[in-house]
Amino acid sequence: MNKNLHDAWDREHLWHPYTSTIDPLPTYMVDRAEGVEIVLADGTRLIDGMSSWWSVAHGYNHPRLNKAATDQIARMSHVMFGGLTHAPAIELGKRLLEWAPAEMHNVFFADSGSVAVEVAMKMAVQAAVSRYGDHRRSNFATIRRGYHGDTWNAMSVCDPVTGMHGAFGPALPLRYFLPSPRSRFGGKWDPADAEELRMLFERRSDELAALILEPIVQGAGGMWFYHPEYLREARRLCDEYGVYLIFDEIATGFWRTGRRFALEHAGVVPDIMTVGKALTGGYLTLSAVLTTRDVADTISRGEAGVMMHGPTFMANPLACAIACESLKIFEEQDMPSLVAHIEEVMRRELAPAAEMPQVADVRVLGAIGVIQTREPVDVGVFQRLCVERGVWIRPFGCNVYIMPQYIITDEQLERLCRGMLDTLRALWQ
Ligand SMILES: *Cc1c(COP(=O)(O)O)cnc(C)c1O
Repeated sequence: MNKNLHDAWDREHLWHPYTSTIDPLPTYMVDRAEGVEIVLADGTRLIDGMSSWWSVAHGYNHPRLNKAATDQIARMSHVMFGGLTHAPAIELGKRLLEWAPAEMHNVFFADSGSVAVEVAMKMAVQAAVSRYGDHRRSNFATIRRGYHGDTWNAMSVCDPVTGMHGAFGPALPLRYFLPSPRSRFGGKWDPADAEELRMLFERRSDELAALILEPIVQGAGGMWFYHPEYLREARRLCDEYGVYLIFDEIATGFWRTGRRFALEHAGVVPDIMTVGKALTGGYLTLSAVLTTRDVADTISRGEAGVMMHGPTFMANPLACAIACESLKIFEEQDMPSLVAHIEEVMRRELAPAAEMPQVADVRVLGAIGVIQTREPVDVGVFQRLCVERGVWIRPFGCNVYIMPQYIITDEQLERLCRGMLDTLRALWQ
């Protein structure tokens, strides 16, 4: 392998996500990216299996998204959102409300997924204080195996073990953790899955502002797909006990599970929902929190009288303009059949992995394909082997997974899936 793929200065000085400065995993130098391909500095082309962590939708270096960016830059990259507004924010807000369930009425733009989760949790507390007239309902319940981001409150509702934030222990506020539903998506519903949720609400609902979870697909905390009935049960219990329901659609939104939002699998509407990741088609960081009118107005009737958050780069016009164009591209395509086709090809191509003795489970939903291994995978070795095979996949723990871009061709997707299986064979030989 060409040595200028691994930069010594980078290795010495730059922190990458979740890395050690003493013994960092290798990083590969990227020159550019086009369509579904990442091009390394030595010209090696990799088929991207990660969509840059769920964010790229229509391919890298997309002419229409590029044009939306340059057109917007020629007007303004940014202006403050306090006291000012602009067409990209208004258009994006309108489109998001068209995409979301009809009950969603207000939009808060934030800078990243984690910040959207912080905002959603702050909204739930402010709304609960206003609704009940005291500060007792200020805690949160969630399910294990969840992942909601890296900032403080978002970390507190991540799975304490698999959610990557165990290192902080008692520094984090203590939340109520429920078992992750065992009933699989597409399998039989076991009513026992919701029992602990009911028991918790019976005992503790007067301490709870909200229940927060990722609908249908639990992403970075375990890549688990669960039964939609859990969400219907959660909605019923939240209504019965006066607890707000927050859906974190940051990973699942924008067709990743075969629907615009994963909540559509259950037909359940939350009080608050967060979107991010693929919102700008993978171009820039931007997120949004959507709420019902009732949540928004309850906050505004509260003691503060306003929603207490306002980031510097709120509703960044450049990001909003690109997001609008990305949503237009989605709207012009037959997304349900496009994603159904990706799902079908992945089911077929990944099925042979189920025969491998080191594999515990193979599951596919929408444009997400997961091979769950019995033992954690060595990421450094895996990545070297997958790069040699011309594909880009980054496993975590026992999850080797792909979520290809929607523009991937059958031929590219077959190469990606076969590269994934070949890499595992090489790893285990
Ligand atoms: C990635 C992710 C986040 C955090 O988003 P960032 O943009 O990385 O801050 C929050 N929730 C879910 C479900 C995610 O997948």
